[in-house]
Amino acid sequence: MGRSRRREQGLLYRLSAIADRYCRTVKSQLPALKIAWGKTAETIVNNGHTIQLNFADGSTLKLGDTTYNLVQLHFHRPSEHLIGGRNFPMEAHFVHRAASGALAVIGVLMAEGKANATFARIVATMPAKEGPAVKADGAIDPHGLLPAKLGYYRYSGSLTTPPCAEVVEWLVLTDPIQVAASDVASFAKLYPMNARPVQKSNRRYVLQSS
Ligand SMILES: [Zn+2]
Repeated sequence: MGRSRRREQGLLYRLSAIADRYCRTVKSQLPALKIAWGKTAETIVNNGHTIQLNFADGSTLKLGDTTYNLVQLHFHRPSEHLIGGRNFPMEAHFVHRAASGALAVIGVLMAEGKANATFARIVATMPAKEGPAVKADGAIDPHGLLPAKLGYYRYSGSLTTPPCAEVVEWLVLTDPIQVAASDVASFAKLYPMNARPVQKSNRRYVLQSS
């Protein structure tokens, strides 16, 4: 794991702390998500916290005037966000970074239902044990983990540790995707619980479309 990846990891853990502090949604006119990702992931890694896919430069997300690069995608079980009080078996986080260092994370909630070919491919090829990143299966297209509609909830926060000016945009898609219960079970064998601590359920991030 290189220095930048370690930094990424550190940021993600700080992100969890931040998310706890912003439990509100604001209804407003949101710009469309302009996603221009590549069709493959570069590497897949079991990093001891989650299963993560890393992406080469060139996969972008445009949000207003800002262009972010897709850096990595990882999974949580159960979901870290709740919609209308509803919890989901899993959640995918697509972590993007702008040249300024600002982060934008797209969250996709994962319900159990029809099999999802992309998630099935990830589960079939994920390293069972913690270790270095390995080449990802060429059939893992990140677009396969997006719902048809890209409506979303948005909230922003800043990192709680220096540099505090660094902005994190959370973009949680309104529509969940469906994945096979058996694939969730396979992921759960490796990571039964890797969402933020749930002792205080009121600290989970609740989203409401009022
Ligand atoms: Zn995450």
